[in-house]
Amino acid sequence: MSSTLFPIAAQLPSSDAPAARQEGTSGRHSESESALVDSHGRRLTDLRVSVTGRCNFRCLYCRTGQGEPAGMELPLAEYERLASVFVSLGIEKVRLTGGEPLLREGLVDLTAALGRLRTPAGERLDLALTTNGFGLAKLAKPLAEAGLSRVTVSLDAVDSETFTRVTRVPGGFEKVLAGIRAAQDAGLGPVKVNCVLLRGYNDGQIEAFAEFAQRERVILRFIEFMPLEEAPTPGTDAKAWSREAVVSMDEILTRLRAMGELVALPPTHSSETARRFGFADGAMENVEIGIIAPVSHPFCNHCSRLRLTADGKLRTCLFSNEDHDLLAEMRSGADDEGLRQWIRRVVRGKEERHHIGEAGFLKPLRSMVQIGG
Ligand code: SAM
Ligand code: SF4
Ligand code: SF4
Repeated sequence: MSSTLFPIAAQLPSSDAPAARQEGTSGRHSESESALVDSHGRRLTDLRVSVTGRCNFRCLYCRTGQGEPAGMELPLAEYERLASVFVSLGIEKVRLTGGEPLLREGLVDLTAALGRLRTPAGERLDLALTTNGFGLAKLAKPLAEAGLSRVTVSLDAVDSETFTRVTRVPGGFEKVLAGIRAAQDAGLGPVKVNCVLLRGYNDGQIEAFAEFAQRERVILRFIEFMPLEEAPTPGTDAKAWSREAVVSMDEILTRLRAMGELVALPPTHSSETARRFGFADGAMENVEIGIIAPVSHPFCNHCSRLRLTADGKLRTCLFSNEDHDLLAEMRSGADDEGLRQWIRRVVRGKEERHHIGEAGFLKPLRSMVQIGG
């Protein structure tokens, strides 16, 4: 996995240099000319693959519209081919996402196929999954056996009532909790739990989340709300993005510090997006809390991510205003080398950063559920 391959010095949080520059020219990729590097010197090693745009939740910060997310889904064989081309270009980590990836038929088979891929250095992929966890109790074991390395479960409240208010699906909390426990039992632990905090909805739960992390032995990640929701339907409780709705990293830290002294933990790898913290002592000493703060503390300068949507578009940034039609390129008959050249060219144009909160910021046409978070 990438985290074990980077020298400790390159992991220090003070470095703002892009990942490719941190590694220098004598790093492990000097032997490979295949690495994907953008025009800002960042090396792209992480691919997020959306396997469906469908979802069984209606989280009020994500599926804020009324329509069913539509759109095609690539056949599994096409995901497999594209993934193998990306891996030959230096992608080391693949995260399956959606929509809700557990709704995708054939997910276990796809996981097994990706689990068989090897990097140019002969290593297995770091193969992860982000899910709402609703169907995880049944699928955790087959996914682990198919080669999944780890799982992140989105959980926006630690009590049933608030959970239903945020996801707008009754009875979900107990199912997701069972899914988290099944994943731990299947050897996919420690499970990471993602929580998007929304002012006025679940921001009262920060302390309860820390206690939940201790009790359930999960790693916690609070994520700042980003302007990636669907166009909200007036008259519903769907939450349109505004800066006031964002519960910022500083605010979260202030609340956590009231529970006990916090210590900053070093990033686990150079493109880590979360600032990680632990409690200095006492009963909470084994709790790890990360804060992913794209709005108040952007981390674009060491972004290592690309995204493949469920309809075969390559997105170079979450906030891209254009898609690149990789599926059309593949179906036009391009061989693997042709696809590699096409991908290299697209990746060179990766956006330097997002412009949230700046004058002229344009919300992407695709929402998070259609991109793959
Ligand atoms: N349905 C799966 C789930 O919820 O885990 C996978 C897809 S979901 C789009 C991936 C992640 O994006 C989730 O952790 C979710 O909380 C997060 N997310 C969705 N909309 C967001 C937004 N507007 N701002 C920040 N995070 C968001
Ligand atoms: Fe579905 Fe995930 Fe979006 Fe919630 S965050 S609506 S579970 S895609
Ligand atoms: Fe990377 Fe774009 Fe996200 Fe910044 S906004 S971290 S450049 S995907």
